Order: sequence, then structure tokens, then C-alpha cells
Amino acid sequence: MSIQAIQQAIEEYNRIIIHRHVRPDPDALGSQAGLSELIKASYPEKEVYVVGEDDPSLTFMVKMDKIEDHVFKNALIIICDTANTERIDDVRYKLGATIIKIDHHPNVDPYGDLSWVDTKASSTSEMIYDFYLNAEGLTLNDTAARLLYGGIVGDTGRFLFPSTTKKTLQYAAELVTYDFDRTKLYDGIYNVKDHIARMRGYILQNFTLDEDGLSVVKLTKDILEKFNVSPLETGQLVGTLGDIEGILTWVFFIEETDQIRVRLRSKGPIINEVAAKYNGGGHPLASGASIYSWEDAQKVIQDLRQTLKKWDRGTGSLSQ
Ligand code: AMP
Repeated sequence: MSIQAIQQAIEEYNRIIIHRHVRPDPDALGSQAGLSELIKASYPEKEVYVVGEDDPSLTFMVKMDKIEDHVFKNALIIICDTANTERIDDVRYKLGATIIKIDHHPNVDPYGDLSWVDTKASSTSEMIYDFYLNAEGLTLNDTAARLLYGGIVGDTGRFLFPSTTKKTLQYAAELVTYDFDRTKLYDGIYNVKDHIARMRGYILQNFTLDEDGLSVVKLTKDILEKFNVSPLETGQLVGTLGDIEGILTWVFFIEETDQIRVRLRSKGPIINEVAAKYNGGGHPLASGASIYSWEDAQKVIQDLRQTLKKWDRGTGSLSQ
């Protein structure tokens, strides 16, 4: 059983370094730092570090440790919430002695000496709480509870997405019994700066919507500059179209210096297969990809149209 094997590995190593994916979201940070707090509270003698780049909009959750290369030697590496090796933040994970993958995305790249992948879990933070419940004699403190709760809230869209299960709600109910400021956590995750709100206004004025339910938003460098929004900040904008009637699948193209980032979302049709065609991947209903020209953006749109044509809106399933 993965949980026991993971606990055994944690017990064997004195030094543990925990990673997560690039461009972190609350679940990446919540699972990474929640696990770190769980290990620190349960095994106070161990050295535990969290690594990766800080995203200024999320440092209210946790700040990363800065460590030198030699620290990785003989360390146990745990990588949370990251489906494929290309997306692991801080490539020095390769310097570690043993690698463990803990994730809830489809297991497209089964890396690691040990791996625990549960695609039914709403979030990797939910899995870390599962780990706490099913491992032997661990201690969860208030800080860990806050981080895990934040991760679950983030990845379930405040318990709105279909990935939210009875288990998710049960775990959330248990986590809120710990002592942390929930309002402050929600403010940190959901409050947006005024320039983001104005960009939302632009998106709401300019999205397209075709007869099959596809919506497209193109954020060129000029537009991003006009609203003073960085490509990283567009993560806060992709949900903007989620509650508009008639939109089944939507795509954001974000022009960066070296690529056009594609952010895909859907309310039914499976879109990670399209993402996989364009150097990407992710969940069936929330995925991302990278392309290098606006001609390729047209191809992505065509592929999404094909996917939507096969979708029966009446039954909410693939057409026969
Ligand atoms: P995002 O739009 O960045 O919130 O990404 C949505 C989901 O797609 C997340 O689960 C990401 O892990 C995944 N994802 C985004 N970009 C990529 C990519 N280039 N390769 C693989 N997965 C991705």
C-alpha cells in the first residue's frame, strides 16, 4: 500500500525536500507545505524543506526555502501535484536519493521510485490529509490544516467542481476544526487587485461564443501591457467565463515572450486530449498547453470545435 511505503521512506531519511509544479496554485503549495508541516510536527528531528519559485500572489500561504545544491545529496525527494517531470519546479530533484510522486492528475508520466496517484481525489491536498489519517501516529498542526484546507478550496473552486466528493467535504469539515483564520485564507486566495478586475471586464466584453459552446479569449502582449497584467496573473482570470450560460468549453491564449500559453477549461467535453497534442496535459476538464504561433492557436480552436461537435448537449455526453 502506497501510504505505508511512503511513511517508511519518510522514516528512513533524515532530510526531506518537497517540490511541486511550476506556476504553483493553492493546491500545489497547500499539498507541498501541508506535507512539510505534517512531517515536521510528527518527526521534529528531521530536516524538511519546501522548494520552487515563490509566486508573489501566493506567498501569504507559504514562502519557499532557499537551499544549496549539496543539500539535495542523500535526501528523500517528494514531489506533490505534478503529473510530469517537465513541470517539476526546481530541477535539482534529480540530485536526491529517492523520489516519490504524490499526485491526483492522470498518470501520464509515471516518474519516481515510489508513486501514489489518485485521480479520484479532488486535490493533492486531500491526498495529504488521507495520508495523515491512514499513516501511523502522525501529528497534524494548525498550520498544516490551513494549508491543506486552502489547497482543497483552491482545486475544487470552493467545493463547486464535480471533483468534490463526500470525502472532500468530510475532510474539509475536519480541517476547519483546527485553529486558523478562514476568512483571511479566502481573502488571500480570492481577492484580486484592481488591474485584474479591469482585465476581467475586458474579457467579459470581448469573449467569443460559437453555436457549439466554444468560447475563445486572446490576450496578446499589447492587451496584457495595457492592463498591466503579467502572464502569471492570468491564472486568476481563466475562471471568469465559468458561469456564463452557453459556454461549454473555453480557451485562453496568453502571449508570453517565448510562447503562447494555452489555458483550457470545460464543463463536459474532455479537453486534455487536445492539450496533449500541443505540448501539454492536465485534467480532463482543466488543462494547459504551449504553442509557438497564432496559426497553431487556430489549430487548437479547430480541434476544440471537433471535440465539441462530438458532444451531445442534450444528454451531456458523447454523441452516439
Ligand atoms: P492552469 O491553466 O495553469 O491552471 O492549468 C490547468 C491544469 O492543466 C493544471 O492541472 C495543470 O497542471 C495542467 N497543465 C497546464 N499546463 C500544462 C502543460 N504545459 N503540461 C501539462 N499539464 C499542464
